[in-house]
Amino acid sequence: MLDLNSQSAENTTLGFTPLQVIGGRLADSARSFAVIDPSTGEPFATCPDASADQLEEAIAMARQAQPGWAQLNVATRRDFVHRFADRLIEHKEAIARIITMEQGKPIGASLGEVQRAADSMREICTIPIEPEILREDERGRVELHYRPLGVIGAIAPWNVPIALAAPKIASALYAGNTVILKPSSATPLSTLLMGLVTHDVLPAGICSILAGGGRLGHRMSEHPGIDKINFTGSVPTGKKVMQAAASTLKRLTLELGGNDAAIVLEDADIAKIAPRLFFAAFGLAGQVCMAVKRLYVHESLYEPMVAAMTDLARTARLGNGFEDGVQIGPVQNKSQFDDVMALIEETKALPGVRITAGGHAIDRPGYFIAPTVVADILEGTRLVDDEPFGPILPILSFKSVDEAIARANNSPFGLGGSVWTSDPQRGAEIAARLEAGFTWVNHHVGTTRDLPFGGVKDSGIGRNGGLIGVRSDMEAQVVFIPPAA
Ligand code: NAD
Repeated sequence: MLDLNSQSAENTTLGFTPLQVIGGRLADSARSFAVIDPSTGEPFATCPDASADQLEEAIAMARQAQPGWAQLNVATRRDFVHRFADRLIEHKEAIARIITMEQGKPIGASLGEVQRAADSMREICTIPIEPEILREDERGRVELHYRPLGVIGAIAPWNVPIALAAPKIASALYAGNTVILKPSSATPLSTLLMGLVTHDVLPAGICSILAGGGRLGHRMSEHPGIDKINFTGSVPTGKKVMQAAASTLKRLTLELGGNDAAIVLEDADIAKIAPRLFFAAFGLAGQVCMAVKRLYVHESLYEPMVAAMTDLARTARLGNGFEDGVQIGPVQNKSQFDDVMALIEETKALPGVRITAGGHAIDRPGYFIAPTVVADILEGTRLVDDEPFGPILPILSFKSVDEAIARANNSPFGLGGSVWTSDPQRGAEIAARLEAGFTWVNHHVGTTRDLPFGGVKDSGIGRNGGLIGVRSDMEAQVVFIPPAA
């Protein structure tokens, strides 16, 4: 195990010196930027800001290393990915601590995130990627092979920095590509620590990690030396990535925002499901792509559900993620905090709308917002139609299942969705009618990476995880062998 304390740590708060990984080598940069602690609103560390030359170097090394990496057999590549995952677990506490410092989430959630990251890497390596036989008859034999794409650029957001980045690395490498990862500039440090503890696991050039903001992401998206961008982030940024990638016809996987509906049928047990729905909406302060963002409740259960969610919101424990018993941390950054507060003020001003819990920021430093429950609100408002990405939940009433499905589907988003009922078979039939990439019955949020995850409509293009995900890091190739003459 690497002794983090033996690093010449300039920043004693962090316990390590944040450095990038470029071609297997740890590298600082001439420029740097500050990283803010969302529980205080104050900068607490600096992070290297990759230069254009450093990106060129990482791409050149990745291109040079890729053919040799692709020639290794699948089992050998799987072993390397497993060793990377093992290192994450060896350094789980240290990485989780940095996630909580820069992201704000409770430390238990950060520990869970690192575990999930390692598990997801192993899950991806269970996917079979051998050639298939498409046809074998008197016309000859036709095989379908999958070849790696080359160099994959992975771009990650700030809400779940490690557990969203790790499976992108695993999928790219397992499929025979090399990879260059860019974390969000709001939460880069846990990713650089991941790089520090894993940089000697893989041969040089196989996995580089560069830190920087939108400019670096844009350069990666338009660079001819990168064959695919695997992006997770917001819809507007996803569209910019797609535009920048067009000039080189790059392959793309875009995992974008969501506005997930959860539909509670008349036979659901409110006491049982309310706590699960509450954390599916307010966990991580609502900053989860697949969080419940619209709660549709049958009219017969509407008031009991509003009362249960209000009670849970009023009693939830908010605070610094390192404090004991904290369930919800701050919103991650000032701009997101300002957006959510503006949305709350706008919602409060709507006639007839009831704010039954929250509706205000917490009077303390940092970006804390009280969990906010909104009743008697309809579509046509920004809270219901847009993705708030913060601790605020609209609860809407419906009369019939057909009406609920139509209203849930009347959205440009289509990431996830769920149905809550005491009849799972009926729930599954209704869930299948939701226009969404991933649906649950009596559950919402969370998946494993042996399953494909991604959105329809504006929520994205392609899937990460599962056979579909791994194959999207590869290119199909038909091999035709005619019958012997
Ligand atoms: P964002 O779009 O602002 O940033 C995502 C990443 O893109 C960051 O690394 C950022 O530096 C980079 N970036 C910014 N401008 C760029 C550009 N022009 N070209 C290339 N890269 C650029 O998203 P965010 O605010 O970090 O994350 C929140 C959003 O991500 C929400 O909408 C959320 O729903 C979505 N999200 C989706 C999923 C999913 O799996 N579908 C998962 C998590 C988050």
